[in-house]
Amino acid sequence: MAQIVKLDAFLSNKIAAGEVVERPASIVKELLENALDASSTNILIEVEEGGLSSIRILDNGDGIEAEDVETAFYRHATSKIKTDRDLFKIRTLGFRGEALPSIASVSHLTMRTCTGEGAGVELTLEGGHIQSRQASKTRKGTEVIVKNLFYNTPARLKYLKTVHTEAGHISDVVNRLALAHPHVSMSLYHNGKEVLKTSGNKDLRQVIASIYGRNVAKEMVEVHGRSLDYTVSGYVAKPEVTRASRQYMSLFINGRYIRNFHLARAVQEGFHTLLPIGRFPVVVIRIEMDPTLIDVNVHPSKLEVRLSKEEELSSLITTSIQSAFKQETLIPEVRHKK
Ligand code: ADP
Ligand code: MG
Repeated sequence: MAQIVKLDAFLSNKIAAGEVVERPASIVKELLENALDASSTNILIEVEEGGLSSIRILDNGDGIEAEDVETAFYRHATSKIKTDRDLFKIRTLGFRGEALPSIASVSHLTMRTCTGEGAGVELTLEGGHIQSRQASKTRKGTEVIVKNLFYNTPARLKYLKTVHTEAGHISDVVNRLALAHPHVSMSLYHNGKEVLKTSGNKDLRQVIASIYGRNVAKEMVEVHGRSLDYTVSGYVAKPEVTRASRQYMSLFINGRYIRNFHLARAVQEGFHTLLPIGRFPVVVIRIEMDPTLIDVNVHPSKLEVRLSKEEELSSLITTSIQSAFKQETLIPEVRHKK
């Protein structure tokens, strides 16, 4: 008798959720990325009790067509890629079509969405099973509410840390996406209290000030650089302002926060010998590049990426930081020459 069976969609979504939805902050990341991919200019994020009791994200983006709302909750259903060629030139933050089905499979989820034409739709799901669908009077955009997270995966629920820790992870996620998208206004509230609010006026220094404080923002130097394949821009704090952790070094490629050891080292090299041992700079560097030069399909969280011309980019980052400091006459050789 056959021993191998194909798992049903609900079970396979729950398995995928193990990777995609590690904790409340992962949900905030996925939903926020969806809002950004939908060209939203204004996004409200409200979480209660570190996201454990409720996560609500409201955007003013494109919305989902009424006929697509259920499909959006199928695994590997996406509007962002169509052919395998698209997979090698990803411009959006999402493309795997896994977030909504994964999140829905481990929570009670309500979505209200409207494209601005015709009536909107309200869909409710429990553990990925659709409970109701009705017309909804909503403005253009999408609202997703996630409650009772991990109610059906007790082991994951136990693994979660305190409200304080989970709220911290959520803050990190929102801060990073706010730094990567200064043209989008984002507000984060935790238990009704404002945690972050950005204006969406494109001014990255202002976003930095909202996150790291005015004093740090004041001490930052603008960075610019361009090579054949890459454009680098952003801000680096003067070496007087350092931190004990790498956490304050944020690198973004095409609007995506990434972690890359070599690029982080290139940043530190840009500081030359100005950084005390064991101290790290406060850096926000945005890299724009042709998406065919980057493979983002490495891990479900898309934090790690593979770059085809990493050395070119590393040296561009180093030299851009060096020349920003030279202009500020911070590099010792330059001081001597004067
Ligand atoms: P992916 O983002 O990888 O495409 P998701 O499961 O996150 O997969 O979302 C599935 C689809 O639902 C998206 O491709 C998009 O078409 C639609 N969608 C999800 N969230 C939003 C949103 N906030 N606004 C507009 N469309 C959305
Ligand atoms: Mg997505």
